[in-house]
Amino acid sequence: MKEVKSPKKPLLYYYGIVLLIILAFNLLVAPLLTGNQVAEVDYGTFMDMIDQGDIGLVQVEDSQIIFTNKDETKVYTTGPMEDPTLTERLHNCGAKFDRVVEEPASPLMSFLLTFILPILIFVGLGQYMSKKMMEQAGGKNSLSFGLGKSNAKVYVQSTKGIRFDDVAGEDEAKESLQEIVDYLHDPSKYSQAGASMPKGILLVGPPGTGKTMLAKAVAGEANVPFFSISGSEFVEMFVGMGASKVRDLFRQAKEKAPCIVFIHEIDAIGQKRSSGSAYGGNDEREQTLNQLLTEMDGFEENTGVIILAATNRPDSLDAALTRPGRFDRRVPVELPDLQGREAILKVHAKKIKPAEDVDFHTIARMAAGASGAELANIINEAALRAVRNNRSIVTQEDLEESIEVVIAGYQKKSAVLSDQEKKVVAYHEIGHALVAAEQSHSAPVQKITIIPRTSGALGYTMQVETGDKYLMSKEEIEDKIATYTGGRAAEEVVFGSITTGASNDIEQATKLARAMISRYGMSEEFDMVAMETVQNQYLGGDTSLACSPDTQKEIDRQVVALVKKQHEKAKNILLNNRSKLDELANYLYEKETITGDEFMNILKGGADK
Ligand code: ADP
Ligand code: ZN
Repeated sequence: MKEVKSPKKPLLYYYGIVLLIILAFNLLVAPLLTGNQVAEVDYGTFMDMIDQGDIGLVQVEDSQIIFTNKDETKVYTTGPMEDPTLTERLHNCGAKFDRVVEEPASPLMSFLLTFILPILIFVGLGQYMSKKMMEQAGGKNSLSFGLGKSNAKVYVQSTKGIRFDDVAGEDEAKESLQEIVDYLHDPSKYSQAGASMPKGILLVGPPGTGKTMLAKAVAGEANVPFFSISGSEFVEMFVGMGASKVRDLFRQAKEKAPCIVFIHEIDAIGQKRSSGSAYGGNDEREQTLNQLLTEMDGFEENTGVIILAATNRPDSLDAALTRPGRFDRRVPVELPDLQGREAILKVHAKKIKPAEDVDFHTIARMAAGASGAELANIINEAALRAVRNNRSIVTQEDLEESIEVVIAGYQKKSAVLSDQEKKVVAYHEIGHALVAAEQSHSAPVQKITIIPRTSGALGYTMQVETGDKYLMSKEEIEDKIATYTGGRAAEEVVFGSITTGASNDIEQATKLARAMISRYGMSEEFDMVAMETVQNQYLGGDTSLACSPDTQKEIDRQVVALVKKQHEKAKNILLNNRSKLDELANYLYEKETITGDEFMNILKGGADK
């Protein structure tokens, strides 16, 4: 949801302009102001004027002679000369020896004009520019604050009417948030009943699951102003700005209450504060966080300001933020399930023209694990593909192709594989598919392709579970490991040599085998003892070991044994189905992409012959 910022002109550009202004000022304007009535003349002219008696006042100094004409309307200066008769001649022509009243620019005045004024202009311009730059950096959709308070403004009035209906799925999240909407409609109802709303609510979930959308929908449903700022915006500004931004944000929010304040990526400021401050910490961030805490404690309950914050790393937040009276309520916003995915696809499909036979259920099944943002992207990619093919109707094929574009990386048609490589990849992928198909606990194969992706994969076998899975049995995991080893096994069985193409398979198989033993309690020896614990499921599941070095060795030994056993199993499956393996691999080699149905037809069809 980041806006594209207009490119900033380099700072140097502004300084250049200021320099030019000062130069021009000194050359053109200053002389006009300071010396407009003083004319410098040569000594000859002075002599002539004496001869003509055209001298009024005269003041002889060491460095110059200042004089006026007879009427004392003009002031002249000229350089001094060794001229012993000067005084006498001046006296004779009737000049008065006196101070010339209209001094050519007092030193103070000229100092002010040539130094102070440009500096003032410089400072003024600088302030104007920094304000401008901050407006640019703030973007359109967010609050932007200048150096002073006066220019703090800009918020987004209820957001183009986003409603709960626009957010597909996420029923539980919507249900929890409905109460907030109700409260914002009539805060007094709650205060009369002695009930108080939480001030802060944390929307917790992976990126792209619609947290921002939900926050906007709350504002939209309640028809209240929506202030939005990203946590990273607080800290990316100048030092000391973060805290004053927070202050300004809350000042405005209180003025506009009831309203919603939405802080995206709150972990950017809300991370645990460094206790020892061994690295000096990030003072700016801590100051900002402290200010946020102060503000949250400062405003009374039921003022009608509700702060929603989004994060995908709730465990990294400072404990002070999640204390009662602050962000003490959590609303999980999870990745959509099968039904949710279908609903999201349908919501976004309203923007395109799908063909009549498009089956969103199948698409949703194929896009397991996709976030709402990715699903929206799949629809858009499909529409783009239709346009590239000069169509306005989006077909099933467009959509299926887009799943791979979005999830597996773009098709790299230009990458040329040698025939031998292509053959190896075909056998490798069929190896996966065949091992999967010949086991009773594997998900059916949906699609096999040997068209390379930009993600680096040379081929790809897509398996799709028939429903959403929440539990996996030991047998299923074992079969899955065997399927991962199937690619390499095919290379061994057919070519007798192995390639580097299996590195990802090896990684996945190892991960599963290790988890079986150390986390899922699926080994005889260790029973239900946890050897590893997951630290943070939102941080990609970092694990930490909790066992002795000896045990670790034993785990490693068992992981190897487990994978080896499945690898042997896969090899045997392929050896027993050698003719099928050849037939399928050749078919894939020719077609490059085959569907699960084609695969099963060949597999079953051949069996009767
Ligand atoms: P987050 O804030 O969780 O990172 P966003 O709310 O910014 O995610 O979602 C990004 C985009 O993904 C939205 O603009 C929308 O197009 C799409 N999207 C995500 N979740 C949903 C959903 N549940 N229903 C409809 N669209 C969704
Ligand atoms: Zn593989």
